[in-house]
Amino acid sequence: MEKVYIGLGSNLDNPAGQIEKALQALDALPETRLLKASRLYSSKPLGPQDQPDFLNAVCLLETALPPLKLLDALQAIEREQGRVKKRHWGERSIDLDILLYGRMRMDSERLTLPHKEIANRDFVLLPLAEISPGLTIPEQGQVENLVERLETTFVVPMEANTQV
Ligand code: ATP
Ligand code: MG
Ligand code: MG
Repeated sequence: MEKVYIGLGSNLDNPAGQIEKALQALDALPETRLLKASRLYSSKPLGPQDQPDFLNAVCLLETALPPLKLLDALQAIEREQGRVKKRHWGERSIDLDILLYGRMRMDSERLTLPHKEIANRDFVLLPLAEISPGLTIPEQGQVENLVERLETTFVVPMEANTQV
């Protein structure tokens, strides 16, 4: 079993409900268990600004699915929840990214591990620090230190998540 961190994001069709539903779908995957989920965080869109703000969260899974099987499963959940590709970094009902898969490093056409932007995103680092204080990202350092390197952020934690 590997410990895996997933980043969740949504800005369409009831974002809080989308994240809740995706967490349940992750917990229901074969050979997989949801161990922790962060609160919801609201954030400004990364790409085009003419789209709604996002809700983001991260969760910790324990899974025996190998990385590409897990990616297949995440993409199936995205499709199931009605994700339609519109534009790069555009609006979506749900985005599920593998942030860390244990300490594995990989750079293939379909999958980069750790996620290539993990150290640059407040909406990823803040919820990671919430559920796993002191977590180190291979070759990048501790989440708390990485957060401090960012410019002021506009990420706002929402009320406590009832999950797990
Ligand atoms: P970003 O990756 O910058 O957050 P995004 O999540 O909007 O952008 P997607 O459209 O969801 O990008 O995914 C594009 C492709 O990224 C996927 O088809 C997948 O093959 C690839 N990918 C590479 N590394 C990862 C990863 N760690 N987690 C999820 N997808 C990944
Ligand atoms: Mg993403
Ligand atoms: Mg994605």
